[in-house]
Amino acid sequence: MYHFPPDQCWEPLSNLTMIGDAAHRMPPYAGEGVNMAMLDALELSVCLTGGEYHDLRTAIGAFEKSMCRRAGEVTLMTLANTEMLHAPGALQAMLAMFGGQ
Ligand SMILES: Cc1cc2nc3c(=O)[nH]c(=O)nc-3n(C[C@H](O)[C@H](O)[C@H](O)COP(=O)(O)OP(=O)(O)OC[C@H]3O[C@@H](n4cnc5c(N)ncnc54)[C@H](O)[C@@H]3O)c2cc1C
Repeated sequence: MYHFPPDQCWEPLSNLTMIGDAAHRMPPYAGEGVNMAMLDALELSVCLTGGEYHDLRTAIGAFEKSMCRRAGEVTLMTLANTEMLHAPGALQAMLAMFGGQ
């Protein structure tokens, strides 16, 4: 399944950003895509309205830096799960995971 690079980053703009799958599409094998998208919206709103940043570009840049780091970590987790769930012994691995082992 296609996914975005876990270490991606880009120069922030003052009038445009991306959230959700548009910014960090990842395999669905951790059940985190919607969580990431909702957290993006929350963090972006805090950066834009919290009064911490003196201009839009800085606010968007701070948001994107945090989002890319967080989404990259979760992308790596989804890639590990993708491999586990398509490997021989997937059922045992999944039972162990849900059993906390
Ligand atoms: C099989 C599968 C299982 C998944 N399971 C889970 C799960 O269990 N838990 C979880 O958290 N996540 C899961 N995900 C991931 C989750 O669905 C996505 O991460 C989430 O939907 C991303 O939300 P989004 O709003 O960024 O994008 P989307 O939900 O894709 O929304 C984008 C919207 O933009 C619209 N659009 C596209 N182009 C245009 C255009 N040019 N003009 C206007 N509108 C446009 C689309 O029609 C769509 O409605 C799963 C994904 C898949 C494929």
